[in-house]
Amino acid sequence: MGKNSAIEWTHHTFNPWWGCTKVSHACKLCYAEVWAKRTGGSLWGPKAARRFFGEEHWKQPLNWDLEARERRTRFRVFCASMADVFEYRAELNPWREKLWDLIEATPNLDWLLLTKRPQRTLLCSRWRGSWPRNVWLGTTVENQATANERIPFLLENEAVVRFVSCEPLIGPINIQRFLGGGVNWVIAGGESGGRSRPSHPDWMRHLRAQALKANVPFNFKQWGNWSPLEPGVAKAPSRAHVFPSGEVMIRKNKYAAGRMLDGRTWDQFPTIDHEAIRAV
Ligand code: SF4
Repeated sequence: MGKNSAIEWTHHTFNPWWGCTKVSHACKLCYAEVWAKRTGGSLWGPKAARRFFGEEHWKQPLNWDLEARERRTRFRVFCASMADVFEYRAELNPWREKLWDLIEATPNLDWLLLTKRPQRTLLCSRWRGSWPRNVWLGTTVENQATANERIPFLLENEAVVRFVSCEPLIGPINIQRFLGGGVNWVIAGGESGGRSRPSHPDWMRHLRAQALKANVPFNFKQWGNWSPLEPGVAKAPSRAHVFPSGEVMIRKNKYAAGRMLDGRTWDQFPTIDHEAIRAV
């Protein structure tokens, strides 16, 4: 979709720094840590250093903003794929302030801030949790326990879009009560990586049903490395996982596993009235 991002639901990706500390089961196979190691960095854990960038890096979003303005469009910017913007670490405070400056300077970009630490969003926000209108604030939840814990913190914030990313989905989740209470986008996806865990298709379907029932857009990002055995295939290949319900999942390359759920893609996005926002 985007010219500098392979992530399906964003045009651009921006990282204010690289590095993080694991906080939950969803972090087990953190792809960012794997990627950082491949490029020679040891950036994970409370004692490891973080990687910071110079002014050329920070200028990129200004160029995207200019282009969006000239084309009279908007670009979504995912922040961050190699860090958690709200990590607790005093050293990061000035970099967060720099990020808030950048967000204010780029009104033609929609910044998607996604965190597993929503309990810190109010504390870290320059705007006391009343986020600028070009910020979409989201939290990642992987199972019912993290949904129950994190979504209420997300909902303490005011943002044009408050979204929940259920990826990697490692258990069934019921978020019905939050969908009528201010969550206005649901994303779901499976896990990628060498020891990735399969997601039962019914967990995805159940989330989709909850979202559609509440008129909340649903976006199915990907299966990850496991996708359901296709109908008509008599014998499962050797790399299969069978859930107790009998559902057979096949381990594949992430691209071969694809992003079809029940025969189609689900690429729904929130509808934002930007003209109305600008007029405020
Ligand atoms: S919070 Fe995100 S970036 Fe940080 S360790 Fe977990 S998965 Fe990786």
